[in-house]
Amino acid sequence: MQEAEPKGLHESFLTEKRLLEQISGENLEKRLLELAEIGGLVKEVGKYVEVTRLAFTKEDLAARSYLDRLMKESGMDVEHHPFGLIGVCYGQSPELPAVMLLSHFDSVPKGGMYDGALGTIGAIEVVRLLCENKIKFARTIVVLAATAEESSRFNNGLAGSRALFHGLTDKELAAKRPGDCSLGEALCAWGFNLNDVKTPRFTKDQIHAAIELHISQNAYLEESGKGLGVVKAIAAPDRREIIIGEPINKTNVGKDGVYFEVKVKGQAGHSGATPMGRQYRADGLLPLADFLIKTTLLAGELDVQVAVDKLLVESQALNKIPGHASCLVVLSGSATRIEKAKAILKNYGQLRNKQYARPPTKFSQQAISIEEVKANPPDYFFDPASILARCKLAGQIIRIVNSVSGKYRDYQKETIVGTVTTLTQSQEGQIILGVDVRGTDELVRNHVWHEVLAKIETVNKTNVDYTINKLSGSNDPTTMDQELVRKAEAVIQNHNLGQYEITFSPAGHDSQNAARAGIPTVMFFIPSRNSGASHVPQEYSTAQDLERGAKALAALVVRLTL
Ligand SMILES: [Zn+2]
Repeated sequence: MQEAEPKGLHESFLTEKRLLEQISGENLEKRLLELAEIGGLVKEVGKYVEVTRLAFTKEDLAARSYLDRLMKESGMDVEHHPFGLIGVCYGQSPELPAVMLLSHFDSVPKGGMYDGALGTIGAIEVVRLLCENKIKFARTIVVLAATAEESSRFNNGLAGSRALFHGLTDKELAAKRPGDCSLGEALCAWGFNLNDVKTPRFTKDQIHAAIELHISQNAYLEESGKGLGVVKAIAAPDRREIIIGEPINKTNVGKDGVYFEVKVKGQAGHSGATPMGRQYRADGLLPLADFLIKTTLLAGELDVQVAVDKLLVESQALNKIPGHASCLVVLSGSATRIEKAKAILKNYGQLRNKQYARPPTKFSQQAISIEEVKANPPDYFFDPASILARCKLAGQIIRIVNSVSGKYRDYQKETIVGTVTTLTQSQEGQIILGVDVRGTDELVRNHVWHEVLAKIETVNKTNVDYTINKLSGSNDPTTMDQELVRKAEAVIQNHNLGQYEITFSPAGHDSQNAARAGIPTVMFFIPSRNSGASHVPQEYSTAQDLERGAKALAALVVRLTL
């Protein structure tokens, strides 16, 4: 039986209602698990599903092929773009600007199964049900499943949607992480033409509205007891890289010392979405920073030769709070002096452990461990004096970013977060920090950076050289379309989808690139359970949450499309 073309709000409501009744959280969870199997390790939903699906890897390719099949089965034509898939379901008036549902399908290293994936799977499910029910609608629906949203692989967040809505610059294409190829090289290796990503695929006259469904990535929504969030603004990161020291030569000094491995057990989390403070975040770099500073002092006090090497943050990414961090400390000198230094280091570790474990805290009882190791000596060392000064400054910068951002965290209700998210030691002995400062208010964010930079100048008493570069992935905060925010509220109310919160997103999203291209854009959030865990395998939303989110999405799409 053919549907009569629905007209007016009442008909629209009835169509929406019919569609919403068929949306099932269990179905969505099943699809999300299928996608999670690609690059994933599924132990137990709700407890531990680990997904690593970085842009332009074999997992990315496998995900594209899975989504291609799903989109086609759901009734869409599929276009393969270098930065993802574009599913199209034509409306009866294809000349009208389309309604777009967008999200991403790449992940951070060792992330969870909902970030990005929910918006992609949810959007495809909405179109599948529209087609299955033979509902007629006027505007074409476009499902954009983008890759390279996370900055994990190329130090370049939201690169995919930036390419799709704005086109990429040569500088953005040159973005890379140490030891990996650049974004441009990755595109070429996949056989894409770089000219195809320098101009936008979508312009504002093609798209009537863009909607993204996403997990909230923090505990706010769960704590508020509400099931949905309507996003009115997106905070954006101002990311900078701080390169400490000039290249230096390698030396053998310190090779014959006693080796200690200092390990910190923090807890990884989303650097944008996790509020400041020890009760919310256990930043693994903070205890390590204390240690770097203490070790430097030790070198002066005890007449032992101290070297620090192998600075490491496990599975680090620019948008991830460092979890596990470690370094190697080498002490050389007379046996008695080494014993004394060792005791001081251990005592200091215990003292800091007590401080970090004091409630309220996210740190475990034994955040820091110091083990003497019979490690094979590293092939080389850098001049200990230069490297120690660099370690000290790195430690101080980590502390400064944390304390200044913490001070502004609730400034005029504009939540600011700031994190040293990445730390690498180059082959030339330079220490490179990636710093991510975010907020919804550009002025406040600028203010935080200003204060951080001034404090670094003050503490850098030994005048270690350092340079600061702005990183791609930095953005201005974005406002969502207020008319769409009202419509999003209306569909939640009309369909009794429960209590909702008008909120903002501390984390960046593809939606901000759509909004900045002049396309009216809005986002729905569902709660992130497990205390808002995100970018980690504990990321979780219940089947009910998924269902409620997809219903809000479906209702708004129908209302905008008919
Ligand atoms: Zn995401």
